[in-house]
Amino acid sequence: MKEADRCLLCGTPVCIDACPVLLDVRGMNEAVARGDFRKAYDRIRETNPLL
Ligand code: SF4
Repeated sequence: MKEADRCLLCGTPVCIDACPVLLDVRGMNEAVARGDFRKAYDRIRETNPLL
């Protein structure tokens, strides 16, 4: 949670742009920082084309 809280929630997130499947890394970090692991899981799952 401390590490996720370091995320700057960038307006133009290079983490997402650099991801070949455009996972919502920013959204996951935001949820993890709040301790909402269910939401973090959902955000990654919703944008994961492999699931
Ligand atoms: S994880 Fe993404 S949104 Fe967060 S600081 Fe890094 S590039 Fe920005």
